Amino acid sequence: MNMTDWPVLVAIAFAVFLGMEVFAWAAHKYIMHSWGWGWHQSHHEEREGWFEKNDLYAVVFAAFAILLFVIANYGYPLVGAVATGITLYGAFYFIVHDGLVHQRWPFRHIPHKGYAKRLVQAHRLHHAVKGKDGGVSFGFLYAPPIDKLTRQLRTEGTVAAERRGESGTDASATRH
Ligand SMILES: [Zn+2]
Ligand SMILES: [Zn+2]
Repeated sequence: MNMTDWPVLVAIAFAVFLGMEVFAWAAHKYIMHSWGWGWHQSHHEEREGWFEKNDLYAVVFAAFAILLFVIANYGYPLVGAVATGITLYGAFYFIVHDGLVHQRWPFRHIPHKGYAKRLVQAHRLHHAVKGKDGGVSFGFLYAPPIDKLTRQLRTEGTVAAERRGESGTDASATRH
């Protein structure tokens, strides 16, 4: 089989899709909750209007994927497969994170069972912490067991500290 045969390309796109979760987890934990907090903070606060500054991250990732598609057009199908994987992850993230969890869609659906419920709950726990530090559950496709996350939150003690107003960030801002 050739590297540019379609089953290989599909496999690469799928692998990139899965790999994006690791990348997204790391970017969320080490960039967005670190030096990239300037953009991400808006996502941990009440949103005013349709957009938040954090959406700029999606713009950057989309621009990168588009660039890869352009390169692929010059005869690099492998690059196209990578771009497809990134785009699929973006679409999934947009549907589940922005739609299901944050209800930025015109319709509401709250999953009451199965893995979808766990995904939503895990991300809600991420948002239980308003500030930059001491959060849990930075990934998305993979949600750790909920009781593990609640235990971790309790150990970190961030939520309680924020309620007492000990944290440097504005703990009064609520976002559910
Ligand atoms: Zn976050
Ligand atoms: Zn979120």
